[in-house]
Amino acid sequence: MHTFTIIFLTAFGLHLAVQIWLATRQMKHVRAHRNSVPAEFSSVITSTDHAKAADYTVAKQRLGVLELVFDGAILLWLTLGGGIAGIGVVTASLGLTPLWTGVAHVLGVIAVLSLLALPLGAYRTFVMEQRFGFNRTTVGVFVADLLKAWLLGALLGGVMVAAVLWVMRSAGLYWWLVAWAVWMGFTLLVTWAWPRLIAPLFNKFSPLENPALRERIDALLERCGFHASGVFVMDGSRRSAHGNAYFTGLGREKRIVFFDTLLAGLTPVQVESVLAHELAHFKLKHVPKRLIGGAAMSLAGFALLGWLSQRDWFYSALGANSHTDASALLLFILVVPAFAWVLSPLLAAWSRRHEFEADAFAAQHSDGCELAHALVSMYKDNASTLTPDPLYSAFHDSHPPPSARIERLLPAGAATSRAAVAAA
Ligand SMILES: [Zn+2]
Repeated sequence: MHTFTIIFLTAFGLHLAVQIWLATRQMKHVRAHRNSVPAEFSSVITSTDHAKAADYTVAKQRLGVLELVFDGAILLWLTLGGGIAGIGVVTASLGLTPLWTGVAHVLGVIAVLSLLALPLGAYRTFVMEQRFGFNRTTVGVFVADLLKAWLLGALLGGVMVAAVLWVMRSAGLYWWLVAWAVWMGFTLLVTWAWPRLIAPLFNKFSPLENPALRERIDALLERCGFHASGVFVMDGSRRSAHGNAYFTGLGREKRIVFFDTLLAGLTPVQVESVLAHELAHFKLKHVPKRLIGGAAMSLAGFALLGWLSQRDWFYSALGANSHTDASALLLFILVVPAFAWVLSPLLAAWSRRHEFEADAFAAQHSDGCELAHALVSMYKDNASTLTPDPLYSAFHDSHPPPSARIERLLPAGAATSRAAVAAA
């Protein structure tokens, strides 16, 4: 067996083992705390809500483990099992030019992956989410979403893959630097166009109209010296009862989006505090920091791909018999996650730091107690666990554990007022 095959299998096995171990810890921890609501939440989260959140968290983890094993089997089939090579034989027989044969090869593998992910995706929506009362997606919406996503993926992905493969063929030794520049340009363009051109294909966005709320929000934007192209309400309730808020876009196209499902459960001052948290991600430059972090990582990725694509062993050790640019790209995209997962705790910690900073900003420019209220209400409505396993949370969670966030938002040493706030 090739040395790199052994290295890949070791990394792959380690990844699977660590993820399953963490998921098992999370399930055990959540189950162990299923029947006792943490004191600081006990006045607003009932034991029924808490037990539901525990059962929902465990159900999600179980499905997650199934997906891990399933995706792992597909990865082994595509690489060592010769799946990529086999799909390459089919696309080579289409009689296209070399460039378009490569594009067909990459998109063909992605299409196979999407089809294989379909059963578990449908199970998640129509069985698991349904069981916990969150699903609002009909089969019609589900199918329409899939078709739109596939069409969009083929279009945008096709353009991107064609551009990268073309650069690989024609830009010489430092093609990876050119490919990275193309990739970055494309990423920025899509990020910019997303709110106006792409997101509306899936959801309706209407300007926030509630006059009392509007006034509050305009005052907040004014106070923080913030210019956005608008605050919008999204019809999230078309698909799910889960609520959320997010910011999107770049430059003048920045938008703040509230799910209608979130607005339904919050008072105007709570909405203002949530908005202040979202604004903080802009004002504290979290968005450009993430873009720069992503740019640095993709540069490292392209440099590594540039080097690997020149090594014979990279292809032969991973089951690809033809040394085409498309095979290099596919092997790289599929195999890198087996190694790159070690970075995920660092990225999660970075994200949690940003969340704490955004909470502090919201407390300063709006009302920290009200944000705490709003968060508790969101935890309740989304059946988020209040008692995650500390190690699981440190590894995976982009947001700090609920108790840590609430504790920082409420006045110091105010254990009783914390309960009072939760009760309000
Ligand atoms: Zn945030």
